[in-house]
Amino acid sequence: MNEYISQLIKDDKLKISVDKSKTFGFELGDKWVGEEKIIISGPCSVESKDMIVEWSLELDKVGVDAVRAGAYKPCTYPIRKEVNGWKEGMREEGLSALVDVQAQTGLPIVSEIMDANQINDLSMDAIDVIQVGTRNFQNYTLLDALGKLDKPVLLKRGTWGTLDEILGACERILEGGNDKLAICLRGVVGAPSYRHIFPSIRWVPDLMMIPALKKFTNIPIIYDPSHSTGYRDFVVPISKAAMAAGADGLIVECHPNPPKSISDADQAIGIEELKEIMEYVNG
Ligand code: PEP
Ligand code: MN
Repeated sequence: MNEYISQLIKDDKLKISVDKSKTFGFELGDKWVGEEKIIISGPCSVESKDMIVEWSLELDKVGVDAVRAGAYKPCTYPIRKEVNGWKEGMREEGLSALVDVQAQTGLPIVSEIMDANQINDLSMDAIDVIQVGTRNFQNYTLLDALGKLDKPVLLKRGTWGTLDEILGACERILEGGNDKLAICLRGVVGAPSYRHIFPSIRWVPDLMMIPALKKFTNIPIIYDPSHSTGYRDFVVPISKAAMAAGADGLIVECHPNPPKSISDADQAIGIEELKEIMEYVNG
């Protein structure tokens, strides 16, 4: 065992997350996350009820394991609260639309909540896997509340998160008793030297964190190529690279008309690129 991590274990800071005899993960449709590779896909945001229901039916046809779409949508820039009339997501109305998606497709829903107060009957009905967004990676009130639920959690890495902080955030959820957990790696801070050529690139895809985490934990790792690259042309190759590096699955933004996406338009891929990724992952 690595000396730094051993010390954290000795100091009683890490325990459950680094127990290599333990199985983590959860059921997603007919698969067990961590045992079989999975693909979660959908638009960045719930844009309207019709849009998300119709698009999810298309995603179902290509065989995704779950639909992703944000009803609560925090922006990267703190005071960018409105984009063309769109105000950080459709919120409760978006959650109701996700209930319809479940009813019409039977697919599980992965969606973000931002605050422990958003754990209520509607969010529990609408969301099968609760996504913790990068900005809430160290929202301890939220992590503690999720630890008490009997519901799968997809914990996204903070853009700044170190390996031990990722395990620590997991530990915080696990301590509460909830081991239906997967880590989601996404891009991290840093300015790629070609950002002036591809301005929508905001993050660096840290693929090495996949094998690095796997040295210490059995918690499944889902890779997010969309919020790693910020640029649609790079989503397919980085998806393949993440799977080659040992990821247990992907969460990918895919939209019926990618450049017209209400949020994260530059990184959304279309159905053909999604099919290419699915073919690579599922063979
Ligand atoms: C998202 O998944 O749409 C999202 C907002 O991601 P992140 O929290 O990683 O920015
Ligand atoms: Mn997004």
